[in-house]
Amino acid sequence: MLTQPVSSVQGVGPRAVEQLADLGIYTIHDLIFYFPFRYDDFAVRNIHEVEHEEKVTLQGAVHSQPELRFYGPKKSRLTIRVLVDNVLVQAVFFNQAFLKRQIQPGDYVTFHGKFDRHRLMVQGAVLKQPADDGEIEPVYPLKSGIKLASLKKWIARVFQDFQEDIQEILPDPALKKYKLMERSKACYHLHFPHDMDLFEQARRRMVYEELLVFQLKMQIFRKTQREADSGTEKVWDPSELVQFINKLPFPLTSAQERVLHEITEDMKSPYRMNRLLQGDVGSGKTIVAAAALLAAVRSGYQGALMVPTEILAEQHAQSLAELFENSGIRTAHLSGSSKTKAKRETLEKLAAGEIDIIIGTHALIQEGVDFHRLGLVITDEQHRFGVQQRRVLREKGLQPDVLFMTATPIPRTLAITAFGDMDVSTIDEMPAGRKPVETYWVKPDMMPRVLGFIRRQAEAGHQTYVICPLIEESDVLDVQNAIDLHTQIQEALPELKAGLMHGRLPAQDKEEVMQQFAENSVQVLVSTTVVEVGVNVPNATLMVIYDANRFGLAQLHQLRGRVGRGSDQAYCILLADPKSDNGKERMSIMTETNDGFELSQRDLELRGPGDFFGVKQSGLPELKVADIAEDFKALETARQDAVKLVESDAFWKDSSYRGLRQMLEKEGVFDADRMD
Ligand code: ADP
Ligand code: MG
Repeated sequence: MLTQPVSSVQGVGPRAVEQLADLGIYTIHDLIFYFPFRYDDFAVRNIHEVEHEEKVTLQGAVHSQPELRFYGPKKSRLTIRVLVDNVLVQAVFFNQAFLKRQIQPGDYVTFHGKFDRHRLMVQGAVLKQPADDGEIEPVYPLKSGIKLASLKKWIARVFQDFQEDIQEILPDPALKKYKLMERSKACYHLHFPHDMDLFEQARRRMVYEELLVFQLKMQIFRKTQREADSGTEKVWDPSELVQFINKLPFPLTSAQERVLHEITEDMKSPYRMNRLLQGDVGSGKTIVAAAALLAAVRSGYQGALMVPTEILAEQHAQSLAELFENSGIRTAHLSGSSKTKAKRETLEKLAAGEIDIIIGTHALIQEGVDFHRLGLVITDEQHRFGVQQRRVLREKGLQPDVLFMTATPIPRTLAITAFGDMDVSTIDEMPAGRKPVETYWVKPDMMPRVLGFIRRQAEAGHQTYVICPLIEESDVLDVQNAIDLHTQIQEALPELKAGLMHGRLPAQDKEEVMQQFAENSVQVLVSTTVVEVGVNVPNATLMVIYDANRFGLAQLHQLRGRVGRGSDQAYCILLADPKSDNGKERMSIMTETNDGFELSQRDLELRGPGDFFGVKQSGLPELKVADIAEDFKALETARQDAVKLVESDAFWKDSSYRGLRQMLEKEGVFDADRMD
């Protein structure tokens, strides 16, 4: 039985039991499903195809006598020149002096190690027997002193004795439909990849299983959530919404219309809305949010708009106040820095229902803020959402519709991974007449020319943002830097007015300088990255970013998104040292595309899904076999299947799904609290 403890495996003593427990392995089952996290490829390669720093196995004839040097009693360095595919390569072996006697010029050798393309050298080489171990070697995550060889031995024993006990959990039709390898066989070939073809099939099968289970969790969670917290069916007079939209100075794009429709349908439904609205910077999400808030208020509820920064709160408060002018809708800005008295008044009014829409930072739902009848919460520029905020709302006993807005487009694979329990709306169209921002990557010493460019923009009546160099881990230096740069730029461009913005400014000063910039009485805004998100001054046409190579793609795209918000041609200048290795790729990607979706896809490829969000909280699952970036087709399929299954009777009742159900049960899926 697979539930037997590991101690029943021959050779696993008390010490090993402890070590395995450290890896989360307690039973035979755990051992079987402890898959390699990597496979090293020992197949011999052609040297011309190998990249710098790649780990590789090479083969060739020894060219001259091995050279041996000692550094200490047991420290040595043996260098062997080998002619590999007509290239003379130095293989350097550490502390393997005994090899000198075994290797003669003219011998044919196979060795493995990291290839240094510039020096034509393989350092830390190990000699391989071409045939031993097969060509692919599994590598397991190890700690607590477990030896790879022991682990492999135990796994081999387990397969001898227990392989037949590995039960199939996928139903027959699925196995047939996708031509999937049987489960026990797949487990075997993942641990013992002797045959490439079988290994690939094994991987394919376990990838599907893993993704299906994962997507089933998501869908079951979504279903139980929908059923548990019924929302409110909001009712309003649609003509009022139409009127509001018709009064705007521009027609909505059809993408804006479509997503607004999706949102309002959710609000009307008896389910609670849990929706992600994604749209590239400048695609016009604010108007959509405003319309949804209007609908909530007209159906007798309050709305809240939450943003990550005070600057943005201020800006949104202002634009909503303008949009709802003469409508009788009472908006208010709850600022973290509001005077306590004013703040208390606002809070009282909010609790009494005398405020319809409140705008503020995330503190809005966290601190002692009481609502009269909260019906809709919108979170703007939320890149790391989720779970946390939903929990806060639930703990406060609030069941509002929830809309998350983000300008960091999430590649579809990630969207359905991290947010599989949410509905997703996408604005995939820019307002008419927008021109792509022209982006240039220049050396930092080009700044004098850039100053000329700033001047010309100003002469044409336009404005510029200058983003300061980034000083990591020091807020104080960051600020000092911003102050210095502001002085320099003001001196270089005496005919213009330069404003200064950074996180440490008192709220009042921030408001004032943003106001001046919005009115064009300040033409150049020197700022730290606090203007990164959301800030909307359409007359600004130039974005200059210092140390651009130190920013991530998403952040650069966000910063660039501050310009190109009107009909005039806009520019973005990235100041980055081309010599620094770091960031070259990102700089080129920035100059190549303006499309946030393409950019985020490339970002995902560059960094991998784990780093894409940069935080654990992102809700990405820990996958053992599948790779979200690579296996996106399987992910799509698994998702579609999971959606269908959860809606079907068979999945819940039929015995062919018992294995899957049991597995989900074991993982606590039906236990609502454990899902978040
Ligand atoms: P984001 O999606 O980045 O939050 P905003 O909502 O701030 O973008 O909109 C960017 C700019 O585009 C604003 O000045 C806004 O008034 C304008 N805008 C929004 N929708 C349209 C539209 N359909 N046609 C023209 N301009 C629009
Ligand atoms: Mg916005």
